[in-house]
Amino acid sequence: MELLQKKIVEEGIALSETVLKVDRFLNHQIDPQLMSEIGKEFATRYQDEKVTKIVTLESSGIAPAVMTGLVMGVPVVFARKKKSLTLTEGLITSSVYSYTKQETTDISMSNKFVDQTDRVLVIDDFLANGQAALALIDLIDKAGAEVAGIGIVIEKAFQDGGMLLREKGYRVDSLARIASLNNQTIQFATEEET
Ligand code: 5GP
Repeated sequence: MELLQKKIVEEGIALSETVLKVDRFLNHQIDPQLMSEIGKEFATRYQDEKVTKIVTLESSGIAPAVMTGLVMGVPVVFARKKKSLTLTEGLITSSVYSYTKQETTDISMSNKFVDQTDRVLVIDDFLANGQAALALIDLIDKAGAEVAGIGIVIEKAFQDGGMLLREKGYRVDSLARIASLNNQTIQFATEEET
């Protein structure tokens, strides 16, 4: 997606050879116009997939997920990273291991909002080693629903997540694919290199 690549080039910062900072438009300050275009793009790509619900992870997945849900006309559920006082019944949980933080976090979702009648589009901000996406897929499996695909705003193609998910047979759509962050330079991979 050209608009997104332009934004990454202009406002993204390669913090290291593995971490990209995009807090000017996605991870802290949010660019609603860009999120709206991202929503339209995911909705176009998944228009024939009979999606009934979108599932994402708080907090940075929420903006692109809501914009996609708006265009597709389906509800958006975000898995929680912290236990909620009001969310206690019918809780489905899974664990996410973060290679970057070297820690495991539990994520949870109510079985009230996703069930066996649903076909779910998973949306997240980044795809690195794929652990967050796998945990969301696990929640959807436990809810008895089907995964239609995984929509990622920025995939770091030099890490294993994309390969892992595609090898498992999931459809993965990334709107920008980063090939390398070496020498503080952001290089993009083309879709063909998947
Ligand atoms: P994974 O589980 O695929 O290894 O990592 C995905 C999660 O880690 C994303 O939801 C995102 O929050 C975070 N993440 C991974 N790599 C980066 C990165 O380079 N920049 C930012 N801002 N977040 C990242």
